[in-house]
Amino acid sequence: MTGSTNHSTNQRISHWIDGRHWAGVPQRSGEVFDPAAGEVRAQVDFAGEVEVAEAVAAASRALPGWRDTSLAARGRVMFAFRELLAARRDELARIVTTEHGKVESDAAGEIQRGLENVEFACGAPQLLKGGFSGNVSTGVDVHSAHRPLGVVGVISPFNFPAMVPLWFVPNAIACGNTVVLKPSEKDPSAAVFIAELFAEAGLPPGVLNVLHGDKVAVDGLLEHPEVRAVSFVGSTPIARYVYQTGTSHGKRVQALGGAKNHMVVLPDADLDLAADAAVSAGFGSAGERCMAVSVVVAVDPVGDDLVAKIADRIGRIRVGDGRKPDSEMGPLVTAAHRDRVAGYLDAGVQEGATLVVDGRAVRPDGAREGFWLGPSLFDHARPGMSIYADEIFGPVLCVVRAASYQDAVELVNGNAYGNGTAIFTADGAAARRFENDVEVGMVGVNVPIPVPVGYYSFGGWKDSLFGDSHAYGPEGFHFFTRTKVVTERWPDQSHAGVNLAFPADT
Ligand code: NAD
Repeated sequence: MTGSTNHSTNQRISHWIDGRHWAGVPQRSGEVFDPAAGEVRAQVDFAGEVEVAEAVAAASRALPGWRDTSLAARGRVMFAFRELLAARRDELARIVTTEHGKVESDAAGEIQRGLENVEFACGAPQLLKGGFSGNVSTGVDVHSAHRPLGVVGVISPFNFPAMVPLWFVPNAIACGNTVVLKPSEKDPSAAVFIAELFAEAGLPPGVLNVLHGDKVAVDGLLEHPEVRAVSFVGSTPIARYVYQTGTSHGKRVQALGGAKNHMVVLPDADLDLAADAAVSAGFGSAGERCMAVSVVVAVDPVGDDLVAKIADRIGRIRVGDGRKPDSEMGPLVTAAHRDRVAGYLDAGVQEGATLVVDGRAVRPDGAREGFWLGPSLFDHARPGMSIYADEIFGPVLCVVRAASYQDAVELVNGNAYGNGTAIFTADGAAARRFENDVEVGMVGVNVPIPVPVGYYSFGGWKDSLFGDSHAYGPEGFHFFTRTKVVTERWPDQSHAGVNLAFPADT
């Protein structure tokens, strides 16, 4: 492994360009926190124009060699990376927990979901097979090939610092592209660790580069003529901006945005199962998941019973430092984000919702520092309230009462987002009807967080995704390749001289 001192307290985290840590002097930098301790643990370099140019130049230089590296050799790198990642997942989970705050078992889960994508990418030779038609006209054959795009940018959010890079980087590389990854500046170390493991697995320098920073780095990638495509995951306003800016610069862009995921509970549902699911999916990772359940739609008459069961379970959640094995929910990522989320608790009360559980007083083990906010629950939330309309992205669950199945579906379909949704019911026909009626990209039936496995693809509808390709799986391979169709003939006796007609038949 390339020597790195990035993972201990109050270190400098620098870019990874051309197979090594960048040794330049940054013009700007940002603070990276340990959210459980509430203190700065590192400074991260922020890229300016020069560093963007350096990273893209490294990726461009590496492209011809990597694109023409045999499928077998590319596959060996991916298999080796898979083994290294599996062997060192605990270390990576600790890095994620230290900078993000989520509990280590949850961090291990995100790495496992990332590994699924690496394993999918190991199958690249099969997935990159083209088509062949022999003798389409006398003596003429046609074949198609999936070719890489070139240098691609990957821009990821803070909430899955390992998994989201792993959604894109392995598939992009397996398809023969080279990559500049711009992780979130809030928890940048996981991306560097992944790049170091790839280097150890034998990935040539420049094929994967990690560039840290903020809007300046993102804009640099969006405007750079040698960056052919951008995969983005983050909030909806930035996703929309990235899509519009990237496409206006002639790039292929997939931009996954925010969410407000509704879980519909029908009167015939098992309410204990539904309450367990709502609490797990609402407060796992402190609600900082794009597939978190943030709205429970209780169809009459289950509301009172369901709210009581959810509140009871919330009271038993163990909030604490994610590095301690008995913690179930960690702190929020930054003080600013914690304060923003806590602000919704006042807003919801002012708007007329009922605050059933208020998490503001929660301080694990009497901690004085740390970005803590306990799980909170609103009942009688309604459209028109900010707690219903906005993506809060924290441990705040809202219950909305609906009079019927039809009202519940209209609520889901009336929402601007369309990432995930779930229905809890014992009625197969109702579930099937919901699956058909609902305008959302990922649907769970008695499954609260229906994240597709790595050999399907992940993506929402409406304001949750801009572009036409979902992330990873078959659509990921589609996104990272372009098709070339070759029509060929080897002249023989059938060659009949000049013919200006459009060939119509044999
Ligand atoms: P964010 O939009 O603030 O940041 C995402 C990325 O964009 C980061 O790398 C950041 O540095 C960059 N960025 C931030 N502001 C920018 C600007 N003005 N111009 C250009 N780039 C900018 O998102 P976040 O807070 O890091 O992550 C949480 C959000 O991501 C939530 O909205 C969540 O729903 C969403 N998310 C969506 C999915 C999905 O698959 N749909 C998955 C995970 C997270």
